[in-house]
Amino acid sequence: MRILVVEDDRTLGKAMSASLEHSGFAVDWVGGIADAQHMLGSEHFDAIVLDLGLPDGDGYAVVRALRQKGATLPVLILTARDAVEDRVQGLDLGADDYIVKPVAMAELQARLRALIRRSAGTGSARFSIGALTLDTAGRRAFLQEQPLDLSGREWGVLEYLATHARRIVSKEQLIQALTSLGQDLSENAIEAYVHRLRGKIEGSGTVIRTVRGLGYMLEQTDEPAH
Ligand code: CA
Repeated sequence: MRILVVEDDRTLGKAMSASLEHSGFAVDWVGGIADAQHMLGSEHFDAIVLDLGLPDGDGYAVVRALRQKGATLPVLILTARDAVEDRVQGLDLGADDYIVKPVAMAELQARLRALIRRSAGTGSARFSIGALTLDTAGRRAFLQEQPLDLSGREWGVLEYLATHARRIVSKEQLIQALTSLGQDLSENAIEAYVHRLRGKIEGSGTVIRTVRGLGYMLEQTDEPAH
């Protein structure tokens, strides 16, 4: 999952980016509204962490622009402890949640995961598709309760496909979800991860189907698990 962090405080921006990367998110970090708009115009993100007090204006402008365009990606705003009005205004404008500074990194991660799940229509941090179970907080997958041995990238592909189960996910979407700007990941590499994942979940009744010319779809087949 890929996050855009918009924060002009270098210490906080760096700390949040490092913490999110450490927990498996792809992260791009910008320090102002103009850069944020530029990134949102050209890249795909799964959620935004948005500071309100920015050097070139207030963060509300970003939320407003997104919602006017009809973009539904989740926005988590950062506010000061006593700034009730900021939070109310942010939520009224279409932000999805807020987190109070100083930011507790574990809380930031948990709130982002919850927002991304909610926007994808997946309820809980642990969910199952057939015999396959994903624990998104622990970044682990299980097949009939047995833990699967997955690399970080394989987990990333599986998490994205499972969170968007029964929907078509393109290779480009997977690349965008797994990499920040400047990181390379080829379509061939995505194909290789999917190939390996298929081997690992074989026989589970859950399959990664190729939708010719469009991408992949993770779904449960009628075939009984054995
Ligand atoms: Ca600020």
